[in-house]
Amino acid sequence: MTSAAAGERQCVYCRRRPVADAWRPFCSERCRLLDLRDWMDGRYRVPGEAASVPDGGPADDGAPDDNR
Ligand SMILES: [Zn+2]
Repeated sequence: MTSAAAGERQCVYCRRRPVADAWRPFCSERCRLLDLRDWMDGRYRVPGEAASVPDGGPADDGAPDDNR
């Protein structure tokens, strides 16, 4: 329909090179992979992941009822 409506679209990752049809919306496979990696990185790096189990529990250090 419209060919280059408002100039060429820039790569959404590097924003320096025009988007390649094969790698839309990126300019190349590299930018696509880098963007994906960043996305995954931010996804897996959840803030407050230190919400682990509270210390304490049935640690058998000197159970008084074990030796009878
Ligand atoms: Zn790019």
